[in-house]
Amino acid sequence: MLSYRHAFHAGNHADVLKHLIEVELLNYLGQKDKPYWYIDTHAGAGAYSLTEGYATKNAEFETGIARLWQRDDLPEAVRNYVDVVKRMNPDGELKFYPGSPWCAADVMPESDKLRLFELHPSDAQILQENFAGSGRRVQIQQANGFDGIKAVLPPPPRRALVLIDPPYEDKRDYHNVVTGLKEGLKRFATGVYAVWYPCLQRAEMKEMIPELKKLPAKSWLRAELHVQSPSADGFGMHGSGMFILNAPWTLPQTLNETLPYLVQHLGLDAKASFILETGGDL
Ligand code: SAM
Repeated sequence: MLSYRHAFHAGNHADVLKHLIEVELLNYLGQKDKPYWYIDTHAGAGAYSLTEGYATKNAEFETGIARLWQRDDLPEAVRNYVDVVKRMNPDGELKFYPGSPWCAADVMPESDKLRLFELHPSDAQILQENFAGSGRRVQIQQANGFDGIKAVLPPPPRRALVLIDPPYEDKRDYHNVVTGLKEGLKRFATGVYAVWYPCLQRAEMKEMIPELKKLPAKSWLRAELHVQSPSADGFGMHGSGMFILNAPWTLPQTLNETLPYLVQHLGLDAKASFILETGGDL
């Protein structure tokens, strides 16, 4: 059940889409001079080496962050995200990749707080080590993030981004995402919620999207980046998506400018494409 290790995938096209949107959402929340929290239900290890260990196995970052890293024509949202990666690699060599908690800690004001859940004992331990010395700003629990959000919502400042990024190895994750969001919205209706999901030829995945659209939020946004055509055997991930509830009004325009660029530079075949749709108030 707990075999998933995110390090295998660190910095791949799916991380690019997820972390770029995460940074965009946090920067938007940070524009107001009011505190906010970052809540990560599936935090992973927080930071990854790209030169040793799991990440070198398939070197997925080579068709993800490595393709953007040196470019000087990045759209603003891509540049803001690449800048986080550059700050982690100050000597100019791509050796480390930031996980979602690291991206958040980098762009959030020092006074704003992070609440992180990670169930895997080894990754939770590495996460603790990566944020040692962060004091009360970062609280980490080795716990089930779907249960964890119930305890932290609503957050005291009444402003937050909640990132839900399960592995989906366990089919129940699809259902847990929908029920987790229902619970979350009941406790904290105005929160910004971002769900990452893999694009697979799998019934559970296809059924989840209409369920997400029906949730009682003010608005929703669905952004998918497909880097290649679905595999003939129906297995394997041909892309990934982010589904965002209560997204900022600026996000559709930003992604309209950003997603074609990602298709152009991260696409692996002629079927590379994107989906961007919105509903509710957006
Ligand atoms: N959000 C991370 C990032 O972007 O850097 C990556 C997270 S990875 C896709 C999913 C993580 O969830 C894994 O580290 C896995 O151990 C952890 N996990 C699996 N089930 C969990 C659960 N029920 N609650 C909390 N963490 C869980």
